Amino acid sequence: MREQSSELRWNPILREWVIVAARREERPVESVEEIERCPFCPGSPEVEGEWDVLSLPNKYPALTPNPPSPVRHWFYRTKPAMGACEVIIETKEHEGDLCDLSLEKMKNVVDLYAERYEELGGLGHVKYVFIFRNKGEVIGVTLHHPHSQLYALPFIPPLVARELESSRRYFRRRGECLFCRVLSVERKDGVRVVYENRDFTCFLPFYARWPYEVHVYPKRHVQSLPELRHDERFSLADALRRVTAIYNSLFGFSMPYIMVIHQRPTDGRDYRYYHLHVEFYPPYRSRDKLKYPAGIERGAGTWTYDATPEEKAEELRKAAAQLNERSVMYRG
Ligand code: ZN
Ligand code: ZN
Ligand code: FE
Repeated sequence: MREQSSELRWNPILREWVIVAARREERPVESVEEIERCPFCPGSPEVEGEWDVLSLPNKYPALTPNPPSPVRHWFYRTKPAMGACEVIIETKEHEGDLCDLSLEKMKNVVDLYAERYEELGGLGHVKYVFIFRNKGEVIGVTLHHPHSQLYALPFIPPLVARELESSRRYFRRRGECLFCRVLSVERKDGVRVVYENRDFTCFLPFYARWPYEVHVYPKRHVQSLPELRHDERFSLADALRRVTAIYNSLFGFSMPYIMVIHQRPTDGRDYRYYHLHVEFYPPYRSRDKLKYPAGIERGAGTWTYDATPEEKAEELRKAAAQLNERSVMYRG
């Protein structure tokens, strides 16, 4: 682990923490020569032994269990960057996506997500365990070996806080889960549903921000991965493989995306009104055009969508149908 001067700085205007982690520029930039020395490939000292899927501490953590004391400022608030950063290496293969893992191996990845969420969430100072997956150079990925990441945070991140607040209010007013309601609306409308199995529905939300944004909701009202039964974990593994396979079949190239898992916080409070889900944000708006969140999105927080979610969902469903024709792997 590198020496690093990390601290949390509070933005009193937007009311959010910023993780200030100096020396992060030392992160590896993978070049052709360096591929031979991939730290996650067999033979690397970091990944010795027998494993299918493996979690490791991040070598360049922005948050650590014993962070240095932050600089005290006479006006601004700071806090120690206490927490943990881990990587979850999904396979020994250097290339590939979630859809390239077998169903069993993808289920092992889901199990490890759940296990790390529970273990790190159990630490007193960890209020939120955020699991995500960045894929593709346009997303800024420097290490191509398939992996997810985990940030154990000493605060609830703002997007999740907004989701919690709206679902708490909805529950209080209507006596039901907002996410369960959205799920039933999406299933009833049907036009934005991209894929569904027994336990999960994958849809492009009515209010999507990204052109091919897909949300994956469990049909059962649960707040976190550890609550999923084994058969439901297989269903989640199937859904995640399917969504990534659909993306990769859409334009005929391996689609970059950000995948995030939204679960309840781990601060010990009651979040029975919340609902576990996974969100995918691919940055493309067509085969050769990227969507750049710019002035209106970054400066105002208001997103524009250059098509209709219904059209884009139709494209994804067509890609799914082609996938079914091409590959026996995805036959129901
Ligand atoms: Zn590798
Ligand atoms: Zn629900
Ligand atoms: Fe969400």
